Amino acid sequence: MLKSRIGLVTAMVLASAGAPRSDAQQASGAQQAPGAPARPSDPRDEMVRTLIGRLDLEKYKATIKGLTQFGDRRQGTKRNRDAVDWIEAQLKSYGCTNTERITYEYQPPAPPAQPLDSAALAARRAAAARSTQASGGGRIRGNRAPTGVNTDSLKQPDPRIRALDAEPTTPGQRQEVYCTKVGTTHPEEMYIIGAHMDGHGYNQAANDDGSGTALVMELARVFMSPDITTERSIRFALWNGEEGGLNGAKAYVEQRQALQGKENPVGSGKYPEPKWLGMIQHDMMMFDHGMPLADGTLPKEQRPEADVNIEFQKTSKMAAESQALAWLLHAANEKYATDYPAAVGPHMTNTDSGRFQDVVAAVSLRENERGAQIGAGWDPQWHQPTDLFTTYSDKDFRLGLNAAQTTGGAVGQLVGATVKR
Ligand SMILES: [Zn+2]
Repeated sequence: MLKSRIGLVTAMVLASAGAPRSDAQQASGAQQAPGAPARPSDPRDEMVRTLIGRLDLEKYKATIKGLTQFGDRRQGTKRNRDAVDWIEAQLKSYGCTNTERITYEYQPPAPPAQPLDSAALAARRAAAARSTQASGGGRIRGNRAPTGVNTDSLKQPDPRIRALDAEPTTPGQRQEVYCTKVGTTHPEEMYIIGAHMDGHGYNQAANDDGSGTALVMELARVFMSPDITTERSIRFALWNGEEGGLNGAKAYVEQRQALQGKENPVGSGKYPEPKWLGMIQHDMMMFDHGMPLADGTLPKEQRPEADVNIEFQKTSKMAAESQALAWLLHAANEKYATDYPAAVGPHMTNTDSGRFQDVVAAVSLRENERGAQIGAGWDPQWHQPTDLFTTYSDKDFRLGLNAAQTTGGAVGQLVGATVKR
């Protein structure tokens, strides 16, 4: 089912993206005079274009700013729980009123019986810094800069943010929120659009992953508009506990996988867990200033050739379906994204879509490739005190908005979105 649908939609996307026109089309359009208004295009495409045109840079920024009022939103703290409440209230205000929560228990893994001494740890870090093997596959090339997670609150220079992020994480119950645009003709099937709302590093987690969370929320705002209908369903999911184990996504898959496509109550037309058609994750969307310079610093400006990196995992069970979904997003980027192109790569790793990759077509969108680029220090704010709203310029925010245009365009086509006139 999924394969054939993606095949069909890919064919549609490719056809409308510039494949040779049929003889009949050429005959009917051949005489169009220069300067005449363009012939009316596919009405479905116009609908998706209208929808994507409602994505708004200022609203996207405002949502990221709103998320930063909860500091780094570290899982297992009040600031994290408050952020879940705030996200839920925002989703409801967009008309996504059927919000639900997943509840799960988190216990940190037991420390190793024989912890490494500091010399062994240093040796392991040095070996990792020399290795050109990227996480998730692929090779690291060129200049590198250090990476890591800041665990020292005193490295946060802003006393207000330091105070906000002071409460330590404790084991126990966690919650995460999602809401659903219900399809009109196929409510029993859905695409999942996700991002993780937690962060760490004594910062504001503005980019990792306020930028992905706000992207999903901005898409929810646009798709939930009362004049938009979709044939299939869309779920907007804000995972918790991504940092340290993809735990919220793991809980979701464990609790919901077996419920897919079941009508409940029977005869109600309600599907609490529509069948999963694809999972599209968003994680760190804004900063693509290029490779570190030889001295380990980063260029100050977004590079003009910045791109949205769409990754699938070629070793996963659903690699073929995931790759097809990735190319579909790539085509949607060419059609709908206003500023920045997309690139497809085979090494998706270290984000919530990994929990789905053997079950359903799964991709992640990012500012850079996670393994070979972010893993080589291309984002100096990553898990550092500098991941603050004020760190980023409009050129950075705009890369995130272009990823929203990419996902929104692809999903708008996949679910058959229409705008009431
Ligand atoms: Zn992240």
